[in-house]
Amino acid sequence: MTDQNPRVVPGGARSTDAKPRAETTTDAHSQTDKFAGIQAELLLATGLSQNLREMLQFFMQAAVKALDLQAAHVYLLESIHTEAEKTESAAGFHYLQSYPEQAEQSSPHQIHRVEDTFKNIYPCDAQGYQIVEVDEGKFSIYCIPNVGNMVLHFKHGNLQTSVADSLKPVMQRLSLACHACLKITRLHSRINLNKVLEKTYEEQANQDPLTKLPNRRAFRYNLYQEIANSQRYNHYGAILYIDLDHFKNINDSLGHSVGDMLLTKVADKFTHEARVGDDVYRIGGDEFVYILRNVGDTEDVAISTAQSVVKRIIDSMADPIEVGEYTLHITPSIGVTIFPDKNTEENDSESVLKHADTAMYRAKSEGRNTFAFYDPEMQVTASKRLIIEDYLRKAINNNELRLEYQPIVNTSGQVIAAESLLRWHNPALGNVSPDDFVGIAEESNLMLDVSDWVLNAACAFVKKVMPNIGKDSAFKYFTINISPKQFKQQNFVTKLVEVLNKYGIAHKDIRLEFTENILIDNIDETILKMEELLAADIHFILDDFGTGYSSLSYLHRLPIRTIKIDKSFVTGFKDKSYTNKAIVDAIIAMADRMDLNCVIEGVETKEDAAYFINKGVFAMQGYHYHRPLSAQGFLNLMKIDEKA
Ligand code: C2E
Ligand code: CA
Ligand code: CA
Repeated sequence: MTDQNPRVVPGGARSTDAKPRAETTTDAHSQTDKFAGIQAELLLATGLSQNLREMLQFFMQAAVKALDLQAAHVYLLESIHTEAEKTESAAGFHYLQSYPEQAEQSSPHQIHRVEDTFKNIYPCDAQGYQIVEVDEGKFSIYCIPNVGNMVLHFKHGNLQTSVADSLKPVMQRLSLACHACLKITRLHSRINLNKVLEKTYEEQANQDPLTKLPNRRAFRYNLYQEIANSQRYNHYGAILYIDLDHFKNINDSLGHSVGDMLLTKVADKFTHEARVGDDVYRIGGDEFVYILRNVGDTEDVAISTAQSVVKRIIDSMADPIEVGEYTLHITPSIGVTIFPDKNTEENDSESVLKHADTAMYRAKSEGRNTFAFYDPEMQVTASKRLIIEDYLRKAINNNELRLEYQPIVNTSGQVIAAESLLRWHNPALGNVSPDDFVGIAEESNLMLDVSDWVLNAACAFVKKVMPNIGKDSAFKYFTINISPKQFKQQNFVTKLVEVLNKYGIAHKDIRLEFTENILIDNIDETILKMEELLAADIHFILDDFGTGYSSLSYLHRLPIRTIKIDKSFVTGFKDKSYTNKAIVDAIIAMADRMDLNCVIEGVETKEDAAYFINKGVFAMQGYHYHRPLSAQGFLNLMKIDEKA
């Protein structure tokens, strides 16, 4: 059994050595050099970091090495610990850390018996050291003046008095370094606090306190930035200026608190309808503004993008809003302007906002719950889109759609297939070209209904024609154009197969035409779907080849057998620039190398036809051979008697 009571040997001024080692005169000088070396090494190890913990860690690491210690531990004075979160307390001192870090178990406060020692006999301002022995453990407890204690845990015995004394000035210096660290930390936390406060003030200055939306001040700043961006990057942005219709009535009749709650709910709706990257601001009582960033590179795309956001907003406001016990209906009047306006120098934020405001008043005067573009021409474009959408919605039920069939021929001029092409005749609008309505229908979900109609109509025709095609005929299949939205439908393949079965059509009797647009979102998913189609023996053609964004880079990844080179490269081929010719030649050569069939679209002249025949392409389509034909026209061409 070893002695459980610590034996305390006071150090400092007195030169008592707990475990004296022989200090012979022969090695006295080298010993003195060694002390000086250790002292210098430890002095250099103070203040190596501005962070208290890290700085002490560096120091203890050096001390453990130089003095061959088992470990070193630091305790801070009560008055100083605030900065360094305290862990366990040992008699008025707070344990901070040890080196090596896992040596905490061997620290004096873990060896409970030493606790009393700390409390009773170690006033920290003693400016010296104590040597304490517990069991086999030998500790030197040094005072770090006005900071706390550093406890050195020896492996064997204690330090010689001379070495022990030489550490006192080191501790003085360590104390200075500790205070420097503490000062810097306090300074940092004060700076951080200021930053937090500054940010809060800033937010408050830019935020509407009721709806928490950014306010007019933030709007002005961001609009200024966005106009500059649009000019720099050559794209368009848009402003939607929204005023709530008859909001004043609600305030007057139901009180301001109901009005406030309504505004908050409306603000939430607006935030919800914003596209990613767009912001909504509350710039006045019932006035809100959207900044739509990058709505397109061309005016047309900008108009249609802005318009589709506007329509979403108007639609979302059609649902009533519950405010407490009330169910309220509120509608918006929206003024729209596109910036930068390329026809004027007036592209400062004041003018842009004024234009949107003017447009908003026009929307009000047009009966509210609607929108108006500032630019009358844009209004015409926008209205046309609306009209087309409106009429197209009724076109299916009114029997206004039909299909035409354009033959596709081989190099001998035999009809091998036919593309079904959509036609729309509206009593008020006349014939509307698919180029003028397919895009609009695609933006709303209307195209899904239209596509269903096309698929059914095409299948009905295929069912009528195919049994009348002789076994030896060159004619093999009909093609059907598939819109990107249609293709992206989750159940596209299942639905397609269902329709084919409904009409009892062999899968090989049709081929689908896709454009590169179906690849934009998720090429892997697209490939999976294509493979699903192939597994069902449904084949397809990559349409409008060359007009997409990255034709060559993805082509080798797709399970594609046939591509159709777009007519924009082909029509008027002999007058086209050398580049166009080079592109078509390159595509044909590449298709050949990749073993793909090439269909050339838009062949209008004998010369063009001869050129492509000479190239040995797979098939051609164009006015030189056949224009799109009515159903009857196609039957006549194929010499099919309808009653047969
Ligand atoms: P597309 O798929 O590239 O169809 C070929 C277009 O080129 C057709 O125009 C056709 O009439 C036209 N064309 C054919 N040969 C010649 C020629 O020699 N010279 C010239 N200048 N043009 C020729 P269309 O019928 O106006 O269709 C335009 C686009 O509308 C189609 O382009 C296609 O993207 C889309 N579309 C047509 N029908 C449908 C459909 O049923 N569903 C879907 N999703 N889109 C369709
Ligand atoms: Ca096509
Ligand atoms: Ca095309």
